[in-house]
Amino acid sequence: MSTVAAYAAPAPKAPLERTTIERRAVGAHDVLIDIKFAGICHSDIHQVNEGWGQGIFPMVPGHEIAGVVVEVGSEVTRHAVGDRVGVGCMVDSCRECDNCLRGFEQYCTGGNTMTYNGVDRRGDVTYGGYSKQIVVDENYVVRIPEGLPLDVAAPLLCAGITVYSPLKHWGVGPGKKVAVVGLGGLGHMGVKIAAALGAEVTVLSQSLRKKDDGLKLGARHYRATSDPATFTELAGTFDVILSTVSAPLDFGAYLGLLRSDGAIVNVGAPEEPISLNLFGLLGGRKTLAGSMIGGIAETQEMLDFCAEHGLGSEIELIGADEINTAYQRVLASDVRYRFVIDTATI
Ligand code: NAP
Ligand code: ZN
Ligand code: ZN
Repeated sequence: MSTVAAYAAPAPKAPLERTTIERRAVGAHDVLIDIKFAGICHSDIHQVNEGWGQGIFPMVPGHEIAGVVVEVGSEVTRHAVGDRVGVGCMVDSCRECDNCLRGFEQYCTGGNTMTYNGVDRRGDVTYGGYSKQIVVDENYVVRIPEGLPLDVAAPLLCAGITVYSPLKHWGVGPGKKVAVVGLGGLGHMGVKIAAALGAEVTVLSQSLRKKDDGLKLGARHYRATSDPATFTELAGTFDVILSTVSAPLDFGAYLGLLRSDGAIVNVGAPEEPISLNLFGLLGGRKTLAGSMIGGIAETQEMLDFCAEHGLGSEIELIGADEINTAYQRVLASDVRYRFVIDTATI
């Protein structure tokens, strides 16, 4: 066991503050990682605020972790001391269900172990990336390619894989028209990756405030959802609409923007349910689907793809004492486009 500095929410909705946590001793299959950077995902805020249900406190959020291996267990073969590595939303899974065996550990039917706000298979509470070090089983650690600086790579471990996996699954590529709803942490990576896959990308944002950025990120078109003309002029346009919105959305209106056989893929995780008139799905045989992060092998594939295409996240690097302000700014959709904590400041 070792004592490690961290930032934690001591109670639901409470501001985060400096504390210490215990990390387990490095086991035979574990790696000890010096965390260099940790991204702030909107999911961190949902969980600290118990928006998805009861949380475990004190809570050390953070599942966009980039760092360097400083110690490996005796049986470790996948990583070595000095390797640049990342850890995303899960640190373990059952390893024997159909989904685990197919590389879909995120859909483990035995329940995967979340990087924080979870209980691991030993019965210990998990603590995330807003900390100096973490001990993780080597099979749930991925390699960060040389071409990607660690600070802009950190957000790829959740935001990157969460958009990459559905874009690939729903066949986004040349000849496809794709809309990305919400230009935040996930959304800006959705634009970059969909454009790199060869699709014609449109951003659908609440306003035109970030239009210049959206076009620079790779979008061909940028429309405001506050303008009713967007929904009439773009009716029947898109093959895929990727929604990254953190609040309940009127999906009925967005179904009208799909071509026949098109799909809305929702990755947002709002705290409230939605209601939907199902007639919107019938005409045109449309799909409303969801997707959650991605498997470990697919996360490695995404990192390699991003390195090859030079796709890091657009980040605002902050000190740990700015985490609470950053949370307020994320809630106000005032993020360009991911806050990343320099863990040297913890
Ligand atoms: P974020 O950076 O806050 O981005 C969300 C964006 O949604 C905002 O920037 C804003 O974009 C738009 N938005 C916010 N409130 C809105 C509203 N009331 N109506 C319309 N648009 C609104 O959040 P994020 O970190 O990208 O995460 C987005 C959501 O995905 C969160 O709910 C998060 O928990 C969830 N998530 C899911 C997974 C998964 O595996 N499925 C993984 C990670 C995160 P504009 O200003 O451009 O409109
Ligand atoms: Zn996340
Ligand atoms: Zn499993």
